[in-house]
Amino acid sequence: MQLTESPRAEGIRRLYELMLRVNSSTDLSEVLDEIARGVVEVLGYGIAAIARLEGDTFVMTTVAGPEEVREQIIGRRTPVASIFNEFAQADEWGVLRFVPHDRMPDALEESAWVPDFEPGSSNDSWHPLDALYAPLYSATGQLLGNMSVDLPPGNRIPSREERELLEMFVVQAGLAMYNAQQRERLGDQVRMGDMLRSVSSAGQLAELDLSLREAAQAIARHLQTEHLWIRVFPSGDLGQVEQSAAYPPDDRETSNDQVQLKSLLASRAWDLGRPVLLHDGNACQLDDGLSATQRVLVRELVAAHEGYSLMFAPVCVGRELLGYLLLARDVTLSTWTQDQQEAVMEVGRALGRVVLNARLYERERHLVRELQELDRYKGELIATISHELKTPLTSIMGHVELLEDLDTGIGSVEAISRNADRLNRLVQNLLNYSQIQDKRETVLQSVDLRKLAEQSVELMTMQAEQGRVGMTLVVPPEPVVVTADPDELGKVIDNLTSNAVKYSRPGGTVHLEVGSDGKHAYVLCVDTGLGISSADQVHLFSAFHRSSNPEALSIPGTGLGLAISRRIAQMHGGEIIVASELGKGSTFRLRLPLSDSAGA
Ligand code: ADP
Repeated sequence: MQLTESPRAEGIRRLYELMLRVNSSTDLSEVLDEIARGVVEVLGYGIAAIARLEGDTFVMTTVAGPEEVREQIIGRRTPVASIFNEFAQADEWGVLRFVPHDRMPDALEESAWVPDFEPGSSNDSWHPLDALYAPLYSATGQLLGNMSVDLPPGNRIPSREERELLEMFVVQAGLAMYNAQQRERLGDQVRMGDMLRSVSSAGQLAELDLSLREAAQAIARHLQTEHLWIRVFPSGDLGQVEQSAAYPPDDRETSNDQVQLKSLLASRAWDLGRPVLLHDGNACQLDDGLSATQRVLVRELVAAHEGYSLMFAPVCVGRELLGYLLLARDVTLSTWTQDQQEAVMEVGRALGRVVLNARLYERERHLVRELQELDRYKGELIATISHELKTPLTSIMGHVELLEDLDTGIGSVEAISRNADRLNRLVQNLLNYSQIQDKRETVLQSVDLRKLAEQSVELMTMQAEQGRVGMTLVVPPEPVVVTADPDELGKVIDNLTSNAVKYSRPGGTVHLEVGSDGKHAYVLCVDTGLGISSADQVHLFSAFHRSSNPEALSIPGTGLGLAISRRIAQMHGGEIIVASELGKGSTFRLRLPLSDSAGA
């Protein structure tokens, strides 16, 4: 200390340095240390101690003064209520609160430290039980902490001037805390944003338990929690098992009672709109609304996590509680900040959306499985029925042929024969359809599409002539080779050609063309017939579908040909594309991969 400088001047110089530090330092403990030391070294108090507010408790974090006192009181926790109880008796000295020993409440807070000396007899003598505090507030009036000093200079009640100087230190302590709080808040908000993004992107994973595991990791990482559990209740209509994820992973069973209790706490949090916090000291605050058994369970839960501060939040969508989120953090680390609590609620909602999406997806998959099963059943049914029809029909046709040979002159025989033929075609189509469905392997060989097209035209010539439909065929001079089962592929081209002729009016034309574009071979079948509406085109390749157009409907057909054709094309790695306009005509294009050997 400089001898020439008055204590006041020195105090102000120290304050000035402190103010610079308060605005530039990022380490709150360091700044508070300096403030407390300033109060002791410059202002001459025996002890200066600063406590930070954590929830509803002051926690002593900074002490300047004799080492043994420091050791005694550092880390002490004092309920805010008990200090405010003392404030009620205090003299207000600006921001300072002086509680003379004779007004001190009887039940002295056990954490209070009482110096051991004989009080002087004069009016302004300091008494061992006198207390001088300064609650520390933020710029916005929020309580952040409390400073207390003892053993004032000369063991006298501080003079007005001494108080003014002390007040200035107090203001700096409040500012430093406020700055640190704001910094933490901003940092927290950035981290919480990152966490929410991670949780949402975890929701993109294919399986819900993967999503939950990934989300659990992200939350634990951003919130510095030692343990974390997510539990999602089963959803009734899917009969799903409960899903859960833990960080770090643990397979410990959770009893039903525990799950129920945790769900209850999560729904309590849901009602409150903020997480429920639980640790050693505050379990009883939850008691109202809990049954006696539940109270015991709460205590058991807290005891089982001794040394941890627990936070419960709901996993929810709208008004529906889907599960809960439980976080555990070492109680001696900092408590959950406001922003962290809000972020955890938001995470619960994000997880809710993840769960809902996963369930919708699962429901969809379930439906698809059911539909596939139905389709398989339909296939089997068709196969069985057509197979069973085939045998008696063959017998009928044999006998009809005999009758025709006998030339009975009965007109009915011809009608029977015609209809038996028709029935036979239908049964054959049905058999084809179900065989194609089952067929996995076909006998493949090199096939020249030109040949199949020529055969088709040949086959349809008579029918075309009868219907006065003109037919043209264009093929390139070189072979167009694909690897295929020629019988199957022949059926496709036959079907396209026969449809084109069948659904043409007299005077129309059917044009067939074979070609390749280097990679693919194609067969084009163009007609100037009835055409197909866009609505009908959507279902054109479904089994049993027939156009809604009455003119087309009047022409006999089963609606199986195109379904069979498309399947055969697909089995050959190809496709059939249609372009058509009602009343104008249709173009069907069969496209197939060219055989590798084609160019050779
Ligand atoms: P089918 O001809 O035995 O009814 P398809 O599966 O071959 O069965 O055809 C399904 C339906 O598509 C037909 O009933 C017909 O209404 C329509 N269709 C197919 N090809 C043509 C075409 N070239 N022109 C007009 N309509 C067609």
